[in-house]
Amino acid sequence: MDEIQSKYKKRKNIYFALGVSLFAIIIALTSFTPTGAHKIAPWEAVMIACLVVNIIAIFRVFRCPKCNGALVPAYSSSWGKLHFCPKCGVKLTGN
Ligand SMILES: [Zn+2]
Repeated sequence: MDEIQSKYKKRKNIYFALGVSLFAIIIALTSFTPTGAHKIAPWEAVMIACLVVNIIAIFRVFRCPKCNGALVPAYSSSWGKLHFCPKCGVKLTGN
């Protein structure tokens, strides 16, 4: 496995970890937040900040190791079966 592919694998793992925590934050927000208009509690503000940071991190981390092109849209639309970078065409998977 060459450098590009191992970097891609590492970034994909971070992407998954961030995706899981994003999901956890959304679940926490939707289950603990009272419905309707209310004053935002400090912990909710913290959660929303985490959410935003998480989304930014996903887009910053999950990029092509070669051309630095964003892989999130291509990865989601390929249902996790992305093998080549949509921008520069580099091979991202080992097999
Ligand atoms: Zn690329």
